[in-house]
Amino acid sequence: MKPTPYSAEILTVGNEIITGLVADTNSSVITRRLETLGIPVMRHVSVGDDAEEITNALKQALERVDCVILTGGLGPTHDDITKHVLARFFDSKLVPDDSVKRRIESIFKSRGMSAPQNAHTQAEVPEKATVLDNAKGTAPGLLFEQDGKRVYALPGVPLEAEHLLETHLVPHLENLGTGKVWHRILKTTGVPESLLWQEIGPVSQFEDFVKVASLPSLLGVRIRFTATGKDLAEATAQLDAAEKLLREKIDHHIFAVDDETMEGNLGEWFRSNQRTLAVAESCTGGLIGHRITNVSGSSEYFLEGAVTYSNSAKHTRLGVDPAWIETHGAVSEEVATAMAEGIREWAGSDFGLAVTGIAGPTGGTPHKPVGLTYIAVTGPHGTYCEKFRFHQDRVRNKERAAQAALNLLRLYLLDES
Ligand code: ATP
Ligand code: MG
Repeated sequence: MKPTPYSAEILTVGNEIITGLVADTNSSVITRRLETLGIPVMRHVSVGDDAEEITNALKQALERVDCVILTGGLGPTHDDITKHVLARFFDSKLVPDDSVKRRIESIFKSRGMSAPQNAHTQAEVPEKATVLDNAKGTAPGLLFEQDGKRVYALPGVPLEAEHLLETHLVPHLENLGTGKVWHRILKTTGVPESLLWQEIGPVSQFEDFVKVASLPSLLGVRIRFTATGKDLAEATAQLDAAEKLLREKIDHHIFAVDDETMEGNLGEWFRSNQRTLAVAESCTGGLIGHRITNVSGSSEYFLEGAVTYSNSAKHTRLGVDPAWIETHGAVSEEVATAMAEGIREWAGSDFGLAVTGIAGPTGGTPHKPVGLTYIAVTGPHGTYCEKFRFHQDRVRNKERAAQAALNLLRLYLLDES
């Protein structure tokens, strides 16, 4: 008989979670991390700041799994009751903890403040709990062990929960998982999921090596391969084989792998080829410049980003002929092309990128509907312009236009090299 694997359940606590005010990201972050240790998470449960709800959820979880991870409600405010509920659950009284007290005092001191009145209640911990030191905040994590099962309580703030996950939970749990899994994510953009899979062909061709998940989102489709090798080398070989096969079909749609980003990889290209870029934006309002400058070191290749929103700015800043705007409209192939060439000339960069479009919801006409966008790239070998049509709301249309622009630049550079 196969032994049952060590398993976990996540219990997030907070009225803000169950009312939808805050999205529960802690569960997904913790689950993904435990999965890399080979510990399956069987359930995500969320309850409000209510003692009975927390107690019942915890009791039920402990009947199902070996390890329960709670987040939220450890802080000092009136609605933070997790610590008290756990103390009662494990029949444990609250006692002052000097190291927690000192940590709280030093945090406030470093901010030039004295510790508040409620600091001493924060420094009380259930006697039976192991304190998990929290270097990122005032509330420490707690660990209870009973009948071979573990209950962890982490602060709700994602930064603190993730910190305790890495510094305490991972070291505790990493040898308890069975059969580790490894992932690789290939990020594509510009092609809808159904058409992408038409190009790739049947998923079965990958299933000798890996499991496959297709994850569509606003900015593209991510394809995630999962390998369950006996060690890293075996898993890497399986992931490599799957990636090679995928690249044979759709290499040009793949803009990044795992933690890589579009703008990061573009930056890498500009840096290593010692080329420069300038951008002229209209409907994206600076979003492209924002993304390019999210990359540290972008000053080496990003010379300038101009947000030329009005027709007169397109003329005075980029030299777009007003007669063209009059004849073809600000959202047109002619104007996008002139914007890209204008910013390249003005900035003296090797490449120019420009976007003009109608983000909506107003401003559309039957001839030029909302979402219509022209993107142009120019460089030493000429100018290329492409027409797009996005169908989301204003903010999403801007995000999609910025992504499409960076992708068009990527494809242009691919041809270039
Ligand atoms: P603190 O000591 O900082 O008060 P806490 O343990 O009391 O921490 P909460 O008060 O429950 O945590 O939550 C603090 C904030 O953390 C919430 O306002 C919310 O923005 C965020 N948060 C709580 N739970 C989650 C969750 N499951 N996913 C993402 N964010 C969360
Ligand atoms: Mg709180």
